[in-house]
Amino acid sequence: MKKKRAIFLALIAALLLGDTVLEFVVDQVAQRLNRVSHPGPYEIDEKVATLHRSLFIADLHTDVLLWNRDLLERSPHGHLDLPRLREGNVALQVFSAVTQIPWGINVHSNPADSDLLLPLVLLQRWPLATWTSPMQRALYQARKLEELVQRADDLILVRSRSDLTTLLERRQHGATAIGAVLSLEGTHALEGKAENLEHLFAAGYRILGLAHFADTEVAGSVHGEQKGGLTPFGRRIVRRAQDLGMVIDLAHTAPQTIEEIAALTTAPLLVSHTGVQATCDSPRNLSDAHLRAIAGSGGLVGIALFPAAICAEDLDHAVEAMLHAVRTIGAAHVALGTDFDGAVTTPIDAAGLAQLTGKLLAAGLSKKEIESIMGANVLHFLDAILPK
Ligand SMILES: [Zn+2]
Repeated sequence: MKKKRAIFLALIAALLLGDTVLEFVVDQVAQRLNRVSHPGPYEIDEKVATLHRSLFIADLHTDVLLWNRDLLERSPHGHLDLPRLREGNVALQVFSAVTQIPWGINVHSNPADSDLLLPLVLLQRWPLATWTSPMQRALYQARKLEELVQRADDLILVRSRSDLTTLLERRQHGATAIGAVLSLEGTHALEGKAENLEHLFAAGYRILGLAHFADTEVAGSVHGEQKGGLTPFGRRIVRRAQDLGMVIDLAHTAPQTIEEIAALTTAPLLVSHTGVQATCDSPRNLSDAHLRAIAGSGGLVGIALFPAAICAEDLDHAVEAMLHAVRTIGAAHVALGTDFDGAVTTPIDAAGLAQLTGKLLAAGLSKKEIESIMGANVLHFLDAILPK
């Protein structure tokens, strides 16, 4: 009843309130959900700044498309917009689409059939088609990113290896250019239909996150009720996605799914935003065996910056997780997947990423290792998987 009442109230509010009031309400919600524990302006020593400027920085995960904020403008709230990506020298940003969240969301067990996102969809006046369809929510967020690319002169949609080449060429000629890769967070958005994978690919999706907070028709979520492996439908989807040149992202998937996919596929695998159990003992984080399985595929593990992944609200704990991953599987398999604007508190925002470079340098990593972790690995990884 509580859920129905909240949806009903959101619907009434969406119908009755003016746009300005609605924007204010959603803005307040977004501000509270996406805090920065150590906000800028950031001080940075010259040596670190020089190193940071020389890097190709890539972030494997943001949920910022969930919010209606205009990303052309610098916001005093949240974690990411184009001015802050430029300030953080980000060269490639993966934009992930969240399309459904269970009521009572938690890391242990969630039903697949509830929809906490609906009130936000209504309050933000997303189109009618998105009210009941995760697939339409994914397509809508793809359109949002496309519109942003049209309005910004330095954002490039990366859907192919030739787009990556364009991005690199523009950056080599001294221009600011930021690559944008679309990623889906959870295959429930397929709504059980294989042809929807083709629609997502056509809409520009290049990373397929198999699960989010609940089990899907494709795979088990570590936060789901069953936490199973790949289904027969899931095997078909994974095979087809890989044939198309899509990356399979195992963030949030159940251990059984990770093990089955690692055994099934020869393509490099991704876990876009995670922590490691060795430094933060949570079911959502990777064990050493799973770190090795991902690295064994030639894959990448993106270390996140939020408390559920690193058990703290500071960068030192993110660095600890990265160091453990480097010791266990080598720097060639470690990357950054912040989860900026994913309804989490992070130690820095996108403008502060040089702070992380500084911490990695202070922790004794070589420049080569820092270059790999902060983005070069992601560039090579995508260049090996994306279509021509
Ligand atoms: Zn996530």
